[in-house]
Amino acid sequence: MKVHLTTLGCPKNQVDSELMLGRLAAAGHPIVERAEEAECLIVNTCAFIDRAREESVNTILALARLKQRGVCRALIVTGCLTQRYGGEILREMPEVDSILGTSGLERIVDLVGQAANREDWASSAPPGYLYDASAPRLLTAKVPYAYVKIAEGCDMGCTFCAIPQFRGKHRSRPLHDVVAEVDNLAKRGVQEAILVSQDTLAYGRDLPGNGDIGDLLLALGEDTRMPWIRPMYLHPAHVNERLLDKLARARIVPYVDMPVQHGDDGVLRAMRRAVTARRMTEIVGQLRAAIADVTLRTTVLVGFPGETPAAFEKLLAFLEDARFDRLGVFTYSPEAGTPSPDYPDQVDPELAAERAAIVQDVQDRIAWERNARLVGAVVDVLVDGPSEDPAFAWEGRTAGQAPEIDGVVYLRDRAAFTAGHFARARIAEVEGYELVGERV
Ligand code: SF4
Repeated sequence: MKVHLTTLGCPKNQVDSELMLGRLAAAGHPIVERAEEAECLIVNTCAFIDRAREESVNTILALARLKQRGVCRALIVTGCLTQRYGGEILREMPEVDSILGTSGLERIVDLVGQAANREDWASSAPPGYLYDASAPRLLTAKVPYAYVKIAEGCDMGCTFCAIPQFRGKHRSRPLHDVVAEVDNLAKRGVQEAILVSQDTLAYGRDLPGNGDIGDLLLALGEDTRMPWIRPMYLHPAHVNERLLDKLARARIVPYVDMPVQHGDDGVLRAMRRAVTARRMTEIVGQLRAAIADVTLRTTVLVGFPGETPAAFEKLLAFLEDARFDRLGVFTYSPEAGTPSPDYPDQVDPELAAERAAIVQDVQDRIAWERNARLVGAVVDVLVDGPSEDPAFAWEGRTAGQAPEIDGVVYLRDRAAFTAGHFARARIAEVEGYELVGERV
């Protein structure tokens, strides 16, 4: 049966999609690029916030139309949306044939095999799938990087976040298994391994004797030939001296993604982030001292209940002080099953949106100033592939740019670069978050 899979949401979902495709390909199902050619359509959904749920439902409905007028015989929905709302989806969306949650991904082969028989594997299985290095994985993206899920689930209990409900408790993969996967990816030509999980710095805590995240990063640097290793989502509450020492010694890219969420202690407490603004400022200084030329990325959530004008001012002052290189700002969305929708002093969504725009303005100025210092610098660039901007031949990234969330380096000279390879480039121009490089 010809299968097409659409992935929505975060890199962790992309890993799940590649694992499902790996199993389907191994079972003999051809994977097709165009949904119109598929006999079986799979949508791997996201349910992080209401906008993501809306996108998931719209995608399901759009693909369902192909069932009426194409060769498609079955529509299977997987991922966080079905893990969370599986029963409702089967009840209210008759166009969906089968569902699978975030667990038991190997079941996708059976579901595709029996295609049109309605099956609910989402409600009966516990959340969160943890794979091992031997699981077949089909790398679908034509890019030189791959995401590697080192753990699944989260025990932190931030009061705005529903992820633990559908990804379950924190569980780590064994250290040797992650090392084996990354080494294998390097042998397949992948140039950059991006380590993802819900709570990356909690890695190893649930596996006594396994080692912690610092040990994993040291082992990946020593025992694999992966050129770039990039851990993501480092929760500041877990940072300590021992970790900083290991981060400084590990062969990882000089890039730290540390979601701070806010800069006011009252809001941080209500969010249950287990860290203060002063401690986070201290960590930022420690990271800059420990890792030469480190690029710092963060995430901020505005409009959380109880975010007064004074608390918002504290956040702005915190950001001015920390001067992150990159920042993603989100507005609060009340998630069912989390404590925060019942908190007093909910913030009007319009005000939250205004605050998000202010944060973005502040950050643009800081980031562009920091980026401007790069003009004239000679840097390693990983060439991801052809440029989406027709004015340039290629698009690549420096170590300070994570794929899909940060800017890129545009490269003009077609003959001077090769997709999937590293090159030395001089930064000739800076335009906001984007850089223009020339071969040296
Ligand atoms: S650390 Fe907090 S925000 Fe991140 S997944 Fe866990 S509960 Fe959610």
